Amino acid sequence: MSLNIAVCIKPVPDPDYYDKITIHPVKKTITREGIPTIINPVDKNALEAALQVKEQFGGKVSVITMAPPNAEENLREMLAMGADEAYLLTDRAFAGADTLATSYTLAQGLKKAGPFDLIFTGTESADGATSQVPAQLAEWLDVTHLWNVQEFMVEDRALKAKMGMENGYINYFLQMPALLAVKRSINKPRYTSVMGVMKAKKKPLTLFTAADLELNPELLGLQGSPTKAGAVFTPSMARKGQELTGETEEIVEQLIQVLRGAGLNLETLNVNEAGRE
Ligand SMILES: Cc1cc2nc3c(=O)[nH]c(=O)nc-3n(C[C@H](O)[C@H](O)[C@H](O)COP(=O)(O)OP(=O)(O)OC[C@H]3O[C@@H](n4cnc5c(N)ncnc54)[C@H](O)[C@@H]3O)c2cc1C
Repeated sequence: MSLNIAVCIKPVPDPDYYDKITIHPVKKTITREGIPTIINPVDKNALEAALQVKEQFGGKVSVITMAPPNAEENLREMLAMGADEAYLLTDRAFAGADTLATSYTLAQGLKKAGPFDLIFTGTESADGATSQVPAQLAEWLDVTHLWNVQEFMVEDRALKAKMGMENGYINYFLQMPALLAVKRSINKPRYTSVMGVMKAKKKPLTLFTAADLELNPELLGLQGSPTKAGAVFTPSMARKGQELTGETEEIVEQLIQVLRGAGLNLETLNVNEAGRE
């Protein structure tokens, strides 16, 4: 049995640059220009799961993302880790997509690149973190799906999988084609070898724009996004300063009043009248 496997990966902002991310005051979209990206960490677990299935049963592993053109670098990293080919869905028409428009575009990309027996995603992204894309994607593709998968076994054209719960897990039996959203504890992603990096340069990376896919323009980007962001503001992080003046004892007295005013119960601290322990 040889399997055609897809892995959805999302480039997310490098956490070292989180303080540089801004929100457009009018469009209320996140401005990420100039911010380096990394692969959403759990998506590497998704790729590791796919590679293990391929090693056991044979087949092909494709990675796919809907992202700006510079995501090519992220895809090359996944090819270096072991994926066989990559697909980048990129077009101005995809900009401003909420989870529904994102999952629709991804689903159309998967239909064009597939069909796939198995699709892996992560449980959630490190930035948007809605966890909505996996289920929406499976619905668009009309395949069975399971979220928060902590363990699975492929048997013939079916899967046995454990879905993690707060206090344990539930066993499921799924028929392929199927989509599994895996959690981070499912495996440990392999390291990328130097040989892998060299090989990745020659592996196929296909670019799909809106014109290459069978798409309903009304379901794309901002236009196809029923989620409308409400008021967006950046909380002020400024600190309020207050200068205490006078003799030392007066300053201590003022300080005690300020601390009491802020709700600190000085009686519970071992402080005597003179302010010393
Ligand atoms: C009104 C609105 C406007 C927005 N405008 C923009 C915008 O202009 N630019 C922008 O970048 N974002 C925009 N977003 C955010 C964008 O919708 C989300 O980043 C995207 O839908 C993924 O959602 P998530 O991060 O919650 O993914 P989750 O559902 O938490 O992700 C779960 C898994 O799904 C897969 N996945 C998720 N996204 C992708 C992807 N793009 N490609 C491949 N696999 C994926 C990954 O495997 C991931 O682990 C907007 C959101 C809203 C609500």
